[in-house]
Amino acid sequence: MNQYKRNTNNPEIRELENPIDFRSDTVTLPSKEMLQCIENAKLGDDVYEEDKEVIELQEYAAELLGKEASLFFPSGTQSNLTAILVHCQRGDEVLIGRDYHTNLYEARGASVLGGVGICPIDMSESGSMNLNDMLSQIKDDDPHYAVTKLLCLENTFSGKVQPQDELETLVLEAHRRGLKVHLDGARLFNAHIHSGLSLSALVGSFDSVSICLSKGLGAPVGSLLVSDQTIINKAIRLRKMLGGGMRQVGVIASCGMYALKNNIGRLQHDHDNAKLLATGLSKIAELKVEYGESQTNMVFVNCPKEHRLPLENFLFDRKILIASLDRGRLVCHLGVSEKDIRFVVDVFEDYFRKQ
Ligand SMILES: *Cc1c(COP(=O)(O)O)cnc(C)c1O
Repeated sequence: MNQYKRNTNNPEIRELENPIDFRSDTVTLPSKEMLQCIENAKLGDDVYEEDKEVIELQEYAAELLGKEASLFFPSGTQSNLTAILVHCQRGDEVLIGRDYHTNLYEARGASVLGGVGICPIDMSESGSMNLNDMLSQIKDDDPHYAVTKLLCLENTFSGKVQPQDELETLVLEAHRRGLKVHLDGARLFNAHIHSGLSLSALVGSFDSVSICLSKGLGAPVGSLLVSDQTIINKAIRLRKMLGGGMRQVGVIASCGMYALKNNIGRLQHDHDNAKLLATGLSKIAELKVEYGESQTNMVFVNCPKEHRLPLENFLFDRKILIASLDRGRLVCHLGVSEKDIRFVVDVFEDYFRKQ
């Protein structure tokens, strides 16, 4: 069962008009201005490297992150997978935080399609990986073991900005041991806005970075792998092999460019809204709300089991969508306004008042 779909007897989600949708920041819809970019897009065949929109976007993103080159992908999953396949051969191994997206939510593509083993590393709830836990999993040169080639980190993790000094230490020590280091930066821009650190400072020490345009930045589709030219050249062949070579893809790349130029700064609103939501919900005695200092656009709500389904349905009847209160994650994004937040807090209060 897909955790973002609902199995209640309510009408189909797609029939709802203007729901307030907290399931993920992937649900963001392109604005009118963004859609206008499609009309004006200068298109070509991107497999021939002739689509001006894609070329411009790739150059712009690389420069923005202070790297040499970047490559446009249909999804973050394919971008992360390609990065792992660039850095590792069959029989090699990648170290990944146990709860990271690349370990849990990418269908083990690295192992299935690339013959690359995944070695999960324990991590804290806040997302940090202990240096010794990581180092202890780097295998010695011994024919009994896989060859450890890559460390994969994630920032933000569950909406939480990872302390940059901790990341730097992990990268430095992994490099010392001859590993490459990839960053799953699906929500890197949230980390940038929250921490005030420049994008290039956040990713400078990493060998490759994947960023998503279709999360909080609001583009309909797309991710970018950002790295040096040699790695990107290898990634072009792998992307083709994985079926990610697209043709007049400037149609969506133009939206991605709009997102990078216009929608980074506004992420602050999402963080403010998440805080407002957390503050509002934490006044409800039955709920345990988690919104720490490092949190950006997500609020985690622990709701007593017996209330979960009835509350989900109560919210749904008021056109408020949440993934599931089992996980209890509410995500703020450009489709949710401050007014929506106040309304949602009222609805939660209403539900518990009626109990
Ligand atoms: C969304 C996301 C991805 C990529 O997901 P796609 O749906 O394949 O674009 C990767 N890592 C993290 C942490 C994510 O949240």
